[in-house]
Amino acid sequence: MKNDPDVPKGPEDLRREIVRGILYVHSRLNANTGETLEALSLLAALIELLHQKGLITLEELEAAKQTAGGRLAEQFEEKGLGILLQDKEEDKYAYPGSVKIDCASRVHLCHAACCRLAFALSKQDVQEGIVKWDFEKPYLIARGKDNYCTHIEQGPMTCSIWDKRPVPCRAFDCRRDGRIWIDFEKQIPHPDVARSDWPSCLKDEHAPVAHEHDRVAAHRKVISVKLGEEVIPT
Ligand code: SF4
Repeated sequence: MKNDPDVPKGPEDLRREIVRGILYVHSRLNANTGETLEALSLLAALIELLHQKGLITLEELEAAKQTAGGRLAEQFEEKGLGILLQDKEEDKYAYPGSVKIDCASRVHLCHAACCRLAFALSKQDVQEGIVKWDFEKPYLIARGKDNYCTHIEQGPMTCSIWDKRPVPCRAFDCRRDGRIWIDFEKQIPHPDVARSDWPSCLKDEHAPVAHEHDRVAAHRKVISVKLGEEVIPT
């Protein structure tokens, strides 16, 4: 019998779906591991032959590898391959630079714009398992169709995981972010901040931002593609 998509699924159905998904991932991983092993064996054999024949030195090889590796990592990031993590891993519970802003008195103006910006989680966030991440783009913070972080409580626009929030949430300083405030002190928000397509609607997406942990900086600089990174401790 065909499943009715409107009938809520029970825990056993959900478990079966998850198991099917995991089995698929395992089979893809196993196939990829086989292909990778084959390619690596060929490459190692080629390097050994070139080295034995005196055509390359290991130092030359290492230098060329570093250059090519950086180039490929950039391409992989553009294509969404690999995982995205905060590059500078910091203990969020010991993070010293939390910014103090009276959000409650301004949220009707800024519409909690900061909670619509993408950023990557840290390994600590992922391992802790509380902050949700984007299944399609691991490990960016999970956001809904409206681009708001899934942890925001619509209405009061407060964070439901405040004590566990990631470092970029603790460190972000909206006061000098021209995409959000024309003038923070005078309480003049950017005219487009309430638009549903903010911030992509902004002509100058690269408006000056102040803090190294700014969430866009977190998206563009503080994260890096981590290939082969262990996220779940073994
Ligand atoms: S975790 Fe909390 S503070 Fe961070 S983006 Fe989500 S709702 Fe905002």
